[in-house]
Amino acid sequence: MSAEVPTQHPCHAYRSLMERHRNVGRLAAIAEIISRDFLTAMPEGAYMNRLDQISYLHKRIHNDIVCCDAQRELEEAQDHVEAHGGLWDEWDRANLQGMVDIFRSHSIQTPETMEESARIANEGRRLHREVLKKGDWSAGVPHLKRVVDFTRKMAEKKAKWRGSATLYEALVQDYSPGLDLKTIWKWFNQLDRELLQMLPLVMERQSQRSKIVEMTGSFDPKAQMWLNRALIEMLGFDFDRGSLHETSHSPVEGGTPDDTRLVIKTADSSNFLDSLKSALHEGGHGLYTQGLPAKGEWAYQPVAQDLGTMMHESQALFVEMILGRTPEFFRFLAPRLEGLFHTIRDPALTAENLYRIKTNVRPTLNRRQADEVTYFFHIFLRFQIECDLIEGKIEVEDIPAYWTEWMHNKLGIMPQNHAEGVLQDVHWFVGKFGYFQSYTLGHMVAAQIFERMRTDIPQIFGKIERGDFRQVQYWLHKNIYSKGSLMPAEALLKDVTGYKASPDFLISHLENRYLSD
Ligand SMILES: [Zn+2]
Repeated sequence: MSAEVPTQHPCHAYRSLMERHRNVGRLAAIAEIISRDFLTAMPEGAYMNRLDQISYLHKRIHNDIVCCDAQRELEEAQDHVEAHGGLWDEWDRANLQGMVDIFRSHSIQTPETMEESARIANEGRRLHREVLKKGDWSAGVPHLKRVVDFTRKMAEKKAKWRGSATLYEALVQDYSPGLDLKTIWKWFNQLDRELLQMLPLVMERQSQRSKIVEMTGSFDPKAQMWLNRALIEMLGFDFDRGSLHETSHSPVEGGTPDDTRLVIKTADSSNFLDSLKSALHEGGHGLYTQGLPAKGEWAYQPVAQDLGTMMHESQALFVEMILGRTPEFFRFLAPRLEGLFHTIRDPALTAENLYRIKTNVRPTLNRRQADEVTYFFHIFLRFQIECDLIEGKIEVEDIPAYWTEWMHNKLGIMPQNHAEGVLQDVHWFVGKFGYFQSYTLGHMVAAQIFERMRTDIPQIFGKIERGDFRQVQYWLHKNIYSKGSLMPAEALLKDVTGYKASPDFLISHLENRYLSD
């Protein structure tokens, strides 16, 4: 049965635009699914054809968005709003604004640029897997130089269109619409100052406790995937409309509300917590995607999309770091592990020990393995490198030395090889410059949301300990997911929590968890 557009909106041009976006959305959904398949089921020999298919689809989507008919219809619809404002409710108004933004952001680029952008992203994803495996930085440099040149050219057009203060700000605003770089610097400088003070206090406090018992067991990868699946299903993920896969590439989530693909790192038999962390993170993304208002007339419409990467990462980090690192979560999990992994009274798998493993604070080289207190510094490093790189203050060849010196000065640790340092992330290889700050902004938002949720849901911690996540899910659905892009992220956050975005909530969350228990 095909989806229908039941809208009876009186503006003919707007109805036609909705139909256009429904068709564009169908193509984008196809591109999403074949991109996830690229990482999981695609035979290697299909690589060149797949690259061609994905890049063609992106060119085609661009052409459908920016054609002359669309421009005329947008003008007519905007005239209609002015003349008959009473006939436009807040959803239709937000939807039309989304259409205008999409048209404008595409109209500054050419079809060939969009094709090239998709090609770079998919070539880069595959190349990254190879160079990371070998730790071979120099083999990645030519591709990264091509990406940086391409990104700088795109950023010039974006900065002119948006009136951004710098090229880097124009890229950041792709991922975090409405935020300026000055505000992000202010927040990051506060976090830098306060977390640097907090770090030795937390480490000193933790050093006075008995030693953590390291995990030495072997954990069947199949049983790990069963656990991952069961947990995210309990959190509310609907496996009738989504699936969980493993990949040798970097983990990623994607798809549509009706076909949400979670792709996580292949399970490692020596440590089930890594695979679990990846599943909780991507699961948090997936819950948001599945909860978007994508039914009926809003299917594929701009107003039914997510609020950008700050809000998306906030949902992933809420599940992974905030909820998934409470003592109550481990009290729920621990008794269920013995039967699953065929262990008896393993002291590493007690609730208390698992909680201490996941909340152990110490500087590490790898971003994904970083604890909650030092995670920010990994983001701050990448943010500063990107800023200098896009503004032309440094070049690709300068990154390893910059990285090593910064890590040493800030956290007192140094990567011994490129795999431990500059090669660990896929983002730059796929052209995602301006994305990294979303993780820290998302962490801030997750802490802010949790503070509100704790007052709204009575006995929330008891519910987590019983594995009852229904009210948490209901709260997120009602306040975040179901709102789509009805209002900008900042406005939604203020509406839901009563406060504007601020690092204060993250700082007090970290103080509560790491300095006062
Ligand atoms: Zn994420």
